[in-house]
Amino acid sequence: MPELPEVETYRRYFEETSLHQPIEFIEVEDRKLLTTDYATLTETLVGQSFVSTKRVGKNLFVQTNQGNTVHFHFGMTGDLEYYHSSLERPRHARIIFVFRSGFNLGFICPRKFERIGLVENIESYLKKKKIAPDALDISLEELSRNVRKRKSFIKPVLLDQSTVAGIGNWIVDEVLFQAKIHPESWSNTLTDNETERIFIAIRYVLETAIEHEANYGRFPTSFLIHAREWDTSPYEEANRHLLCPCGKIEIAQIRVGGRATYYCPECQQLR
Ligand SMILES: [Zn+2]
Repeated sequence: MPELPEVETYRRYFEETSLHQPIEFIEVEDRKLLTTDYATLTETLVGQSFVSTKRVGKNLFVQTNQGNTVHFHFGMTGDLEYYHSSLERPRHARIIFVFRSGFNLGFICPRKFERIGLVENIESYLKKKKIAPDALDISLEELSRNVRKRKSFIKPVLLDQSTVAGIGNWIVDEVLFQAKIHPESWSNTLTDNETERIFIAIRYVLETAIEHEANYGRFPTSFLIHAREWDTSPYEEANRHLLCPCGKIEIAQIRVGGRATYYCPECQQLR
């Protein structure tokens, strides 16, 4: 599933390719992918240009020169591809913004879980969906407050988008590993030092992932991620590093809040 690092990569790609070009037409292969009806979407956007982008968690918002906001949700396998009209349409490009410049932006929707639609504004959308500040924007104070007011294991609390936006399953395991905190620690009992370690680890993990454009195989060897089993693993089974980078013990797999969870029993002990 595209997580925060992938969506940040798409946001940057969108900014590099698709701003400041009037939209000529919008092709939609499957209208079920729209959260705004097709007529309203095209009446609103045709003739306008995209001028800026903003990402909050896994949500991408794009604003137009006339103040409209389009929301992109990348579902399980969504992606973007910018290409010239003279080239063949990319596979699974089910929504296409055709620009007057002769270039197109295709929204690639292989499994049709992706969505596009107009939203009134970003703030009201986030409020309605109870989405907390983005993981790279949230302050230490707000993160600590949101974590401590819950009484649950820290892992599901961090996965909840109303605590902080953009932390998915592998990210939370990596964050807790880097912060040396057991995934079943009680969120309401964490000390200032522990919430600060989580805060620092969130930035470190996400910034590392964005720097490597979410190519997990290139992450530092000090990352837990190399021990994970992936649906589409970047590793051959034989190349997985089951030993913790601490060198003392193998990474353990348990279930926390119903989710597969990887951690090091040596580095992340329960207090
Ligand atoms: Zn370890």
